[in-house]
Amino acid sequence: MEDFYTIQGEGYYQGHAAYFIRLGGCDVGCVWCDVKESWDANAHPKVSVHEMARRAKASGSNIAVVTGGEPVMYDLRELTAALKEQGLKTNIETSGAYPLTGTWDWVCLSPKKFKAPDPSIFDKADELKVIVYNKSDFAWAEEHAALVRPSCQLFLQPEWSKEKEVLPLIIDYVKANPKWQVSLQVHKYMNIP
Ligand code: SF4
Repeated sequence: MEDFYTIQGEGYYQGHAAYFIRLGGCDVGCVWCDVKESWDANAHPKVSVHEMARRAKASGSNIAVVTGGEPVMYDLRELTAALKEQGLKTNIETSGAYPLTGTWDWVCLSPKKFKAPDPSIFDKADELKVIVYNKSDFAWAEEHAALVRPSCQLFLQPEWSKEKEVLPLIIDYVKANPKWQVSLQVHKYMNIP
């Protein structure tokens, strides 16, 4: 769908320069999705994996973040091989809706209620990022935290349109449950993509 050099605004790599590769196509259907224009893969141009990797390298970034859409709808082995060939770290952001393919340095699992993750992703997640839309999402976050590895970093992030309402709840929750960290979409404060 698009690729661009920016600052990672969320989660563990927040604040790091990163080249984003946003793959078109998603069938998860989150009601609050802020990239609905990504859903139809056919609405976007086809770009070769080598061209994507070349652009990522040329940006000067050390990290490529593959996101979507829902990137695990695709076989990602060729893309990660091309990125690795260029010496880039490979990070992915996924709902885990399908089995993960490819070689990844960092897997951010952001499960969605609208389509459950494939259970094979839990052992691969380096980071669990749960979007909090309402109070019931804390219990849902804990259900997923129980499934990932002990080393997995745990983040709670307010859904953007609900931030005023849910951020105070997240702050209280993280203070009471310090295994969690707060994640904010700081790229939106910086007015960058
Ligand atoms: S998984 Fe991501 S791209 Fe797909 S609908 Fe949900 S928020 Fe949107």
